[in-house]
Amino acid sequence: MTQKKLNMRTGDTVQVIAGNDIGRQGQVLRTIPSQGLVVVQDVNMRKHHKRPSANAKGGITEGGIVTHEEPIRVSNVMLVCPHCDEPVRTRRRHDADGTIERICKRCDNPIPTPG
Ligand SMILES: [Zn+2]
Repeated sequence: MTQKKLNMRTGDTVQVIAGNDIGRQGQVLRTIPSQGLVVVQDVNMRKHHKRPSANAKGGITEGGIVTHEEPIRVSNVMLVCPHCDEPVRTRRRHDADGTIERICKRCDNPIPTPG
């Protein structure tokens, strides 16, 4: 299995560096590593029109407009370093205890992993 590893995790703060939402920052809500996609809060919002419809129990499901985030390519976002407060490139550092830390290439500080 060739699964791409993402350097982003749910809860990370990222900034959009390409596309319609360029410059926008948000939290990673979900990652889809197999497709190289991430869902970022308030980024790539889509309106979805729901029509009222009868459900199986004979009731009516309410219609309306719901907005939700569509996944965007991970290459279109960059991790925001909490020390620099800017989108930065990162490198990986393998610690003695086996954990992998993400190091900001700008300030050389580890970027904390949420959760
Ligand atoms: Zn930094």
